[in-house]
Amino acid sequence: MILEKGTSLGRDAWRRLLHNKAATAGLILLMAMILICVIGPWISPYTQEEMNWDAINAPPSVKHWMGTDATGRDLLTRTMHGGRISFSVALAATMVSLLIGVAYGGISGYRGGKTDAVMMRVVDVLYGLPFTLLVILLVSIFEKSLMLLFIAIGAVEWLTMARIVRGEVLGLCRQEFVEACRVLGYSNLRILFRHIIPNVLGTIIIYITLTIPSIMLLEAFLSFLGLGVQAPMASWGSLIKEGAFAMEDMPWQMIVPGSALFFTLLALNFLGDGLRDALDPRRISHASTTPPPEHSDSEPGPAAVAGSEETGSLLTVRNLNVTFPQRQGILRAVQNVGFVLNQGEALGIVGESGSGKSVTVSSLMGLVPSPPATISGSAVFRESELIGASASDLRKIRGDKISMIFQDPMTSLNPHQRVVDQVAEPLRIHRGVGKAAARKRAVEVLEEVGIRDAAKRAMSWPHEFSGGMRQRVMIAMAMITEPDLLIADEPTTALDVTVQRQILELIARMRKDHGTAVLFISHDLAVVSAVCDRIAVMKDGVMVEQGTAEDVMERPQHAYTHALLNCHPGLHEPGSRLMTLDQMAETGGRL
Ligand code: ADP
Ligand code: MG
Repeated sequence: MILEKGTSLGRDAWRRLLHNKAATAGLILLMAMILICVIGPWISPYTQEEMNWDAINAPPSVKHWMGTDATGRDLLTRTMHGGRISFSVALAATMVSLLIGVAYGGISGYRGGKTDAVMMRVVDVLYGLPFTLLVILLVSIFEKSLMLLFIAIGAVEWLTMARIVRGEVLGLCRQEFVEACRVLGYSNLRILFRHIIPNVLGTIIIYITLTIPSIMLLEAFLSFLGLGVQAPMASWGSLIKEGAFAMEDMPWQMIVPGSALFFTLLALNFLGDGLRDALDPRRISHASTTPPPEHSDSEPGPAAVAGSEETGSLLTVRNLNVTFPQRQGILRAVQNVGFVLNQGEALGIVGESGSGKSVTVSSLMGLVPSPPATISGSAVFRESELIGASASDLRKIRGDKISMIFQDPMTSLNPHQRVVDQVAEPLRIHRGVGKAAARKRAVEVLEEVGIRDAAKRAMSWPHEFSGGMRQRVMIAMAMITEPDLLIADEPTTALDVTVQRQILELIARMRKDHGTAVLFISHDLAVVSAVCDRIAVMKDGVMVEQGTAEDVMERPQHAYTHALLNCHPGLHEPGSRLMTLDQMAETGGRL
């Protein structure tokens, strides 16, 4: 199957890197530099300490290709040895700053709130200390050792790394694919390190390619002060310093180590640029970027499916109240909401934007941050109470027994993960299914939701899919664990009308095939009535009317429902005026 030979992001990135000429040149140059520094000293007939008093300050010659220094030591050999030190210092210090900086910044950004504030204040204070003096202090308090130099530099460099990572993570946390991960019941650690940090990778890599040079220069500076590499050992920094004193008479003494440093920095720069592009799947330009046309094999779904037999209640919500503190007082976003959803039944919640529909379902899923919000009431799903349930209990239910799909499919998928893996992930997490088996199942479900040529398309990245296809992927992701309840929060609002219809049909079909109960939210009565058996109408946080779809559509009791029915354009006589909801509620919905 095509999946088996599917490439990993790593291999893909590698291919793209090699396409970039500047990056390839940078890579080759860097490898050459490292190779020369590692192997060179073994081949060289000289050692770095060996002084030759007959050849003091000798210019480049056949015997000494790059000349000698003030004590007759072979400059090429010393530069190669120095390279070993410079590279190891830069690498080790970068590793230290990477490990501390990414973990610290990641956690700070992800936790947000007070934790973030405290953690970032600590960084600010450390930033306030004079950077270089701190390293000098550390190096001079403890014994001068190379190891300490690594750690000291790394320990200071991580501050910037932490800040950068924190900023990026903070931004990513607000994206819907992260919310989607939460709904799917992934652990915080997994969300942070599997889903968020990969999206920061490009920035981290760019930063590394900037850090290495700056660490090399800092090391040079410390060596200059006598705090870094101790003679007779050399690093590029110390060699440049020595050479600088004799620049006028013996220019090669500075030019040789200087060029070594210069070309290494140049190579790193090109490589960094190329890597960033290669690691971002959105930067690939395909020959055909237009997604295939929308297509649905589904038979026109019997929209308002019968079958609301009382098979026992699945979700019972009672007296749900959600309030948000605001500057002008308290916002009661949800007031005394109650409803019962039976197994396999579809309940629609309608109401204008801001009427509290999303807050109602989000509070059931534990997605409303409390504090600041206060949530009271009860929501019993099967035997478990959802309101006030612990995070770990909720994680077991979300994505397994209850799945959720969102309004904007464009931002609900992780741009750095292949479609197939995103669909497969809930199975892997909640059922412990192996990678290959989960992927196989994911392709089947993708086929079921109407992705044509699913085996091939499954390996695509989200950006290669249209909005309608992405919503299908979201539905596949939600349905792969065969949940008892599917919550759909305005799943068609962001889509165009023809695609809307197909998605509604798909939801109706999935529901019929799998016996899943659906809680369907929309501002559009027509849409809700197409999918649901029963309809609840919300206004200003209150459920003003509930009934079967037929009753609510044909015999609305509440003036607001009248108004909702009448404000649909299209339902009017040509030329008649459209009214606002408030105007309609006043006049009982009549023009
Ligand atoms: P909708 O019915 O359009 O889905 P919502 O449920 O999203 O409406 O919002 C209901 C009300 O709650 C709105 O007035 C909104 O401004 C408010 N609200 C929603 N989330 C928050 C929040 N996190 N903090 C403060 N107010 C919020
Ligand atoms: Mg909403």
